[in-house]
Amino acid sequence: MALLSFLGAIRQVTGSCYLIESRDGVRVLLECGMHQGRRQEEDSNRAPFPFEPAGLDAVIISHAHLDHSGLLPRLVAAGYRGPIFATQPCCELMELMLLDSAHIQEKDAEWESTWRMRQGKPPVKPLYTTKDTEKALALRHPLPYGKPHEVAKGVRVTYHDAGHILGSAIVELEVQDQQLTRRLVFSGDLGNSCSPLMCDPATLDRADLVLLESTYGDRDHRNNGETLDELAAILQQAHQDGGNVLIPSFAVGRTQDLLYYLGRFYQEGRLPQQVVFLDSPMAIRANAIYARYHAQFDRAHQAEIEARHVRRAEDWLPILRCTPTPDESMAINRIKSGAIIIAGSGMCNGGRIVHHFKHNFWRSDCHLVFPGFQARGTLGRAIVDGATTAKVLHQRIAVKAQVHTLGGFSAHAGQSQLLDWISHFSQRPELYLVHGELEKMQALQQALHERLQWAAHIPEPGQQVAL
Ligand SMILES: [Zn+2]
Repeated sequence: MALLSFLGAIRQVTGSCYLIESRDGVRVLLECGMHQGRRQEEDSNRAPFPFEPAGLDAVIISHAHLDHSGLLPRLVAAGYRGPIFATQPCCELMELMLLDSAHIQEKDAEWESTWRMRQGKPPVKPLYTTKDTEKALALRHPLPYGKPHEVAKGVRVTYHDAGHILGSAIVELEVQDQQLTRRLVFSGDLGNSCSPLMCDPATLDRADLVLLESTYGDRDHRNNGETLDELAAILQQAHQDGGNVLIPSFAVGRTQDLLYYLGRFYQEGRLPQQVVFLDSPMAIRANAIYARYHAQFDRAHQAEIEARHVRRAEDWLPILRCTPTPDESMAINRIKSGAIIIAGSGMCNGGRIVHHFKHNFWRSDCHLVFPGFQARGTLGRAIVDGATTAKVLHQRIAVKAQVHTLGGFSAHAGQSQLLDWISHFSQRPELYLVHGELEKMQALQQALHERLQWAAHIPEPGQQVAL
C-alpha cells in the first residue's frame, strides 16, 4: 500500500502539506504551504522538513496562495530539484506571490538583524531569499485542467477547476502501487459558488480517499445579495460620515472580486465615493494576470466583459486609481474623506494597509471593512474581536473606526457547499478533513454524520494512513 502522511494544514488553516509514498519508492509532495498567523506557527516554517527534499520525485501545487505554495523556495534551497506542477495561471501567480514573499522575508530578516546586532546578538537569515525563489520558479511545470499527466513513475495527476482563485485546482491523483491503482482527491480550497468571476468548483464522482478542506466547515456564508446590500449601505454611511473606507484585502482573488462589485455599484449609480485606490503593487500585477485569462472566468462574467469591451480593471471601474509606487501610496494619506482604499495584507500583519490604519484608525468617521476570514493571532482578528487599541508600526493607536465584517465574500465554500460537493462521490471514499481550525472541522464532521450519515476523520499532525 502507498502511504499518505498528513504534514501540514492539519487542524489549522495554513501550511498545507501532504506526502504520498508508493511501495515502489516514488515520493510525491502535495502542496508546500507556509504557516501564517501566530508567531509560533510562523516559526514552524523554519523547522526542518520531515522528509528528505532531494528524495522527492515531484511536487504538486493546488493554487498560488502562500499557505499552499509559500515554502517552495525553502524546499528548493534544501535540495529539491524536480518539477513543480501547477496550472498555467497558477504558475504565473506563484511568481508574483513567491517573489513578494521572498522580499518580505529579506526585509524582515534585515530589520531583525539590525535590532539584534545592537544588542550584541548574531544576525538572522531570511527564511528564504529572492535567489532561492528564482531557483524554485525555474522548476515550474504548467498543466492544463482536465488532462491526466504522469508526474512521477506510476503517479498521474489531473487538475480540475476549484473555482477559488484564478488557476486554482482540485487535485486528482492516481497512484499505481504495484498491481493496484488508488485514487486520491484533494479538494484544495473549494470556491464559493457565489463568486462573481470564477466558475463553480468542478464535481468529481470517483475516489478511494478524499481530503476535504474545512475552512468554513461550521457555517454557510450569508447570501451574496444581502452582503452586497450591506456593503452598499456601509459605503453610503461612510459618505455621510465624511471619512475614508479601508478594505484590507488579499491581492489575489479577493481584490478582483471586490473591484468587480465596486464596478457594478458604479454602473448602477450606487457608489458615492469619488475614488477607489488600489494600493497594492501585487494586486495591480495580479489584475494584469487575471485580465489575460478571461477565458477561464465564469460564463456570465465573460459575456459582461465582452459587451463592455473590458480590457483592464479600470475599464470596468473608471474611478479606480492604481498606486504602485511608495510615493503614490503615501500621497493617499493626505486624503481624509471620500476614498475607498484597498490594500494588503489581507490579515493586516504588514503591508501598506497598516500605514493607512495609522492615518485613519483613530478617526470615528473612518469605516474599516473586513471582506473575509481573519486567522487567529493576526492584527485583523484582534480588531474583528473588538480590540479598542492596536499596535501599528510600533505605536499603540485607538481603534475609533467603525468596523464591519462581511460574511458573504468568501472565496471558500461554506458548509452546505462542502456537503454538496462531497455528495457527488458515488462510492463513499474514505474522508479526511483538513485545512480548518479544529472546531470548524468538528462541526463539519457532525454535519456529515447527521445529513449524509458519513463518518469523516480528523487526522492528527504527522499521522500516516494507507492509501
Ligand atoms: Zn486559497
